[in-house]
Amino acid sequence: MKNLGRAIRQALRQRFTIIGIILSSLVVAFFWGANIGAVYPFVEVVVQNKSMHDWARERVAESEKASAVAKQKIHELEQQQDGTENAQSLNNKKNEIDALRLRIEAEQKVIATTKSLQPYIERYLPNDAFQTLVLIASFLVVGTIIKNLFLVANMLLVQRFSEMTTLELRNQVFAHTMKMGLGVFNKNRTGDLMSRFTGDIAAIGSTIAFLFGRALREPLKAAVCLLGALWVSWQLMLFSFMVAPLALILTYVLAKSIKRANRRSMEESSQFFRRLLQSFSGIAAVKANTMEKYECNRFRRTTREIYRKSMKIMFYHSLTKFSDEVLGMVVVSISILAGGYLVLNQETHLFGLAMTTRPMNLASLLMFYGFLIGASDPLRKLSGFVNTAQSGAAAADRIYPLLDRKPAIIEKENPIPAKNLAQPIVFDGVNFHYDKKEPVLRDINLKILCGETLAIVGPNGCGKTTLVNLIPRFYDPVDGEVRLGRSPFYDLCIQDLRRRIGIVTQQTILFDDTVLNNIRYGSPRATDEEVFAAAKKAYAHDFIMQKLEHGYDTNVGESGGRLSGGQKQRLSLARIILRDPQIMILDEATSQIDPESEQLIHKVLEKFIKDRTTFIITHRLSTLSLADRILVMNEGQIIDVGSHEELASRCELYQKLYQVSFKESA
Ligand code: ADP
Repeated sequence: MKNLGRAIRQALRQRFTIIGIILSSLVVAFFWGANIGAVYPFVEVVVQNKSMHDWARERVAESEKASAVAKQKIHELEQQQDGTENAQSLNNKKNEIDALRLRIEAEQKVIATTKSLQPYIERYLPNDAFQTLVLIASFLVVGTIIKNLFLVANMLLVQRFSEMTTLELRNQVFAHTMKMGLGVFNKNRTGDLMSRFTGDIAAIGSTIAFLFGRALREPLKAAVCLLGALWVSWQLMLFSFMVAPLALILTYVLAKSIKRANRRSMEESSQFFRRLLQSFSGIAAVKANTMEKYECNRFRRTTREIYRKSMKIMFYHSLTKFSDEVLGMVVVSISILAGGYLVLNQETHLFGLAMTTRPMNLASLLMFYGFLIGASDPLRKLSGFVNTAQSGAAAADRIYPLLDRKPAIIEKENPIPAKNLAQPIVFDGVNFHYDKKEPVLRDINLKILCGETLAIVGPNGCGKTTLVNLIPRFYDPVDGEVRLGRSPFYDLCIQDLRRRIGIVTQQTILFDDTVLNNIRYGSPRATDEEVFAAAKKAYAHDFIMQKLEHGYDTNVGESGGRLSGGQKQRLSLARIILRDPQIMILDEATSQIDPESEQLIHKVLEKFIKDRTTFIITHRLSTLSLADRILVMNEGQIIDVGSHEELASRCELYQKLYQVSFKESA
């Protein structure tokens, strides 16, 4: 609930909207009660073929008569006192006289209020039963129109309130995830993130819409009716609501179960997203290993779980409906029995308890019932309250911890601007691990001179990518330091640093946008001419102009799906050339592409990396020839550093790698 509270506080910043919501809810509630109140004049006046004028006169006369009778009775009782009675009977008599006095007081009150109303009734209301009926009907129609106009306004305001909250929350969570380290975006977690963005935030939105819509409006409507019922007879009302505490306890118990069931169901649906994403993105592997059946079975198990969880939620949900309705009916039955008894017998007491001071008439009782029904309908509409609030609470419990998570990479306060990266890069005793149990980099000591090209080779999983990922500070070393000249990377401004580093990875990242905008990504201020020049340098201009339908304005499709591997690589090289970085990182950039593209890319790199500090992770001999030095890694450690010839003659691991992969690609 704490996290849902944060969502609500965030929503409440829209002050004017919430004021509008409260005001419109109040108007709706008032007219709801007022329409029910119209039962009274209908039963008391119109049905008995009276006008309001007659009603007022008769009411005064009746009360005066009742008052006189009571006075007479008091007089008689006082006369009867002859001193021979016992204490018990004296006490009884005293109580009776007290009750009669109260009755007289009540009758006097009725006389006074009716008399004060009389001049207005006579001046403004018709002196005819049918015309009074017309007036009541008109009031009902106009009241309903006003009520519904405000209801429309209320619903629109509530929708705006919740939409603005989800919009803001989505933007906020997105901005926050953009700040998070790469670890958050592992394949497994992307599905989970996506389900948080869609399902969870939407659930918070609907909970807020419910809390400030129905959950505000309906109780107000109920409150107006309950006030009305209290006004008719508060004692009868309390008596009818004897079972309310039981209802509260039941609701509380069910609420807890619903929250638990909701949380499990959300976990299940994020698992569902994860499975989907894994199966779709790994579809090639699924097919190659003929695992379709296995995947289908696994997926079936997940959907089955979702089904079971949904059924469980529905079960609790229907239980709340069941208990609400049964208990509601118990309340109504108690009040029908009690009220009926009082009116039929013209009694004021029930089991010795005073329910009213003067006997109720049928109109008051019907109005009382009207108010009870008027209160029960809104309360019935709230039966989904617990369920909705709990699902919102569970969703908020998944969203806010995400917002609270500190990014793994934090920029120091007052970082040093890193405007010039043309300095040596030093790894000094660097150790790193993702998981404490598995060291990934061990005691790395290395100095790369400014403008030098360093190739990194080693078996898969030995830590090459991790090593180069420390340079743009995608991760920080666990131990030791990476320095630019004399400044630790930790002290540098991250944005400055990343802006001046160009990274080409195996997976080229293109966005669903035009070729022009894809090249310009990261250098928003570059002119079209600069983009063309960069594309020319990357040998991309020709294929863009000749092979793509709309040239630079061609949309590359999602993830550049319409381009070949080599073309994508050249576009991403053009993007980097345009940014003109001082440090280049190429991570197996030339794998899986056609020989023509490979040759072209080789030519681009040859020129482009000349004056830049460059790290190349590769298995290809042709690319290795670009390097000034080659670093051999194994199991997170540096085994050797040297030229191709040196390593080929002295490093056993290099010889092995050379035999296995370099030759293949050479
Ligand atoms: P290489 O580039 O040499 O193939 P990597 O640097 O990618 O090696 O990986 C080194 C080790 O770290 C591997 O065992 C890999 O499974 C692990 N690893 C890589 N990235 C992550 C990550 N984000 N979270 C946890 N472990 C990782």
